[in-house]
Amino acid sequence: MVLSPSGLSRDRACIRRVRYVMGTFVEIEVACEHQPQAADAIEAAFSEFRRLEGLLSKFIPDSPVGQVNRFGSGHPVEVPREMFDLTERAVRFSEKTSGAFDITVNPLMELWGTAEMKGILPRDEEMVSTLAKVDTQHLLLSAEDSTIGFKAPGCQIDFGAIGKGYAMDRAVEVLKRYEVTHALVNAGGAISCLDEYPSAIGIRNPLDAEDLLASVTLQNNSVATSASGERFFRIGGDRYSHVIDPRTGNPVHHHLVSATVIADTAELADVFSTAVFVLGLNRGMDLIEATEGLEAVLLRGYSSPFEVHISSGLKETSRTTPTNF
Ligand code: ADP
Ligand code: MG
Repeated sequence: MVLSPSGLSRDRACIRRVRYVMGTFVEIEVACEHQPQAADAIEAAFSEFRRLEGLLSKFIPDSPVGQVNRFGSGHPVEVPREMFDLTERAVRFSEKTSGAFDITVNPLMELWGTAEMKGILPRDEEMVSTLAKVDTQHLLLSAEDSTIGFKAPGCQIDFGAIGKGYAMDRAVEVLKRYEVTHALVNAGGAISCLDEYPSAIGIRNPLDAEDLLASVTLQNNSVATSASGERFFRIGGDRYSHVIDPRTGNPVHHHLVSATVIADTAELADVFSTAVFVLGLNRGMDLIEATEGLEAVLLRGYSSPFEVHISSGLKETSRTTPTNF
């Protein structure tokens, strides 16, 4: 959905490496002209991604998240401080987004995953009992002991809409420690830019990758997109978004095709792109306008041409140049 146009490196000598990590292709580009250890910097940044995948993946049973999900309803599980702090921030993001972003969404992910496997939509009573497990109020957090547990049985956490952004921020910190002056980290279309010069990032038409609908300029900040049609459950021939509205329990299905958010950190861009996608055009844009430091480009419609909605901060600074509409 979001892409970095070629030629970003301008006339600088850069090296670029791609690795598959956190369920996506991550591309890291670093300037190497003043920085002989650029390749080492990139490898160290990928190691950071892998370390954080080991910490935050719910698919690894022995990861701290895997353990919280398996044992947290019985007794609180001690987790690394870094994960505890991320969990506390995630709870605050739920409050700020009126529950549109919620890391306790995992029982619903499981419900829809099972529905996909069986090829049958969840039954109403299953939905009701699963929804009862989704609420940050169920989390038992002890800052003193650095433990996470649940007050009710069957609750689980999922960092799917924040972990990649957090890892991107940590990877950029690693690059800075190597005194990198130019870097682009592109994790499956979410992009962070570390540079003294701005970079133009294009936002594609979701139905036609060749068609650029808008572009935003990044400089020492990040962009992320949540969109319909990128990742989905397939049930009975229909496609259902991987982003779930925790208030209804249903996959997001509405007029928004994609929500792209620009923020100072990749963590914020990741969280708020998901939240705005859940909230839809009006409430989503209201949230962006009411939150300092966030900008957004929202695409609306069911088929091309899509309406392009741009937050007021981007309009004022003309950092976005819509094209082709
Ligand atoms: P992507 O992974 O494509 O960048 P998102 O950042 O929107 O997309 O994250 C989607 C993932 O986040 C889902 O696969 C799921 O693991 C988790 N998730 C789904 N709905 C929510 C939600 N409402 N709040 C928090 N996490 C969610
Ligand atoms: Mg997200």
